[in-house]
Amino acid sequence: MSTRNLIWVVIIILTCVSSTGAQTREARSDTQSLLPKHHLPDGSFRNNHRPAINKPGSDLLKWLWNRERPGPVSFTLENNDPQFLRENKSDPTITWIGHATLLIQYDGLNILTDPHFTERASPFRFIGPRRFTPPGLALTDLPQIDLVVISHNHYDHLDEGTIKELYTRQADQPPRIFVPLKQKQWFDNLGIPNVVELDWGENADYKGWRVHAVPTQHWSGRSLWDQNKVLWAGWVLEHPSFSFLFVGDTGYSPDFADIGKRFGPIDLAAIPIGAYEPRWFMSSSHVNPEEAVDIHLDIRARYSVGIHWGTFQLTDEPMDEPPVRLKQVLKRFRIPQDRFFVMQHGETRSLNFIEN
Ligand code: ZN
Ligand code: ZN
Repeated sequence: MSTRNLIWVVIIILTCVSSTGAQTREARSDTQSLLPKHHLPDGSFRNNHRPAINKPGSDLLKWLWNRERPGPVSFTLENNDPQFLRENKSDPTITWIGHATLLIQYDGLNILTDPHFTERASPFRFIGPRRFTPPGLALTDLPQIDLVVISHNHYDHLDEGTIKELYTRQADQPPRIFVPLKQKQWFDNLGIPNVVELDWGENADYKGWRVHAVPTQHWSGRSLWDQNKVLWAGWVLEHPSFSFLFVGDTGYSPDFADIGKRFGPIDLAAIPIGAYEPRWFMSSSHVNPEEAVDIHLDIRARYSVGIHWGTFQLTDEPMDEPPVRLKQVLKRFRIPQDRFFVMQHGETRSLNFIEN
């Protein structure tokens, strides 16, 4: 690999998963006392409980130098029925498209989480983490999308090609896109309308749903120069007969006990279970399956689905390890396996099991 390519690899990894770089400045000024805790006087953001960006650049190099990546794994796609999904107006369903991308259908509304359908989690077509499992549902097979939630701007969660294509397909009726604070400008620059940005603790109503932005333990950035300049968030979607939490990426933190107190019990939560090794490097911004189960308990989820695994190889655990470890943890905690399930890529499940 040429030096130039190596530099790009470092930058892309840095902006996808690693929590290193300049230390987040902990402001100590009078201005800070007037701001919410997660707002810094320079306009950037921080976590409620501990920084995610807490390692020197030398730690990134140490990780990259020493890492032993297991071979990539590609998963076979489960058959689904795009025509049914396009025409479905009444059956509640969940389809795992891959990584953090879910299609949820409930009461006639089609919801997408962190849509990503392209080849790489990268700003470039030719370099950066490659997709090893194709999208479980083609973007062209999607039903008309009503609502999209974006957790944060890392390349495996906010994909420019996907966002543009989604808009092009629905230019006459663009989906309402909910994004964390200060992320709307990125959409404005692309000419994408119908975007609502929310701060942690804020909510907005849409077609009978209340959409809340909630804190997570993570960070943001798409280059070396914009770390934490826009916010990151989880999303609670409340319908009169169904509540859903989309966590996105997160490390473990007391935020989840707070979410549980405020919104629990939550009917269904999508919790990340992959991208966690090595722990010394990743734990401030990515949970492992053990901590994912802690989150499941903290938020008092009736059911959870494990996401953020088996699609891109971002970190050092084998790509097929997260669901295996999740099963072991559930057994240890005596939690029935169906309460925190994983799906096959492309699999559609009825949500009728979430009876009221
Ligand atoms: Zn991330
Ligand atoms: Zn991620």
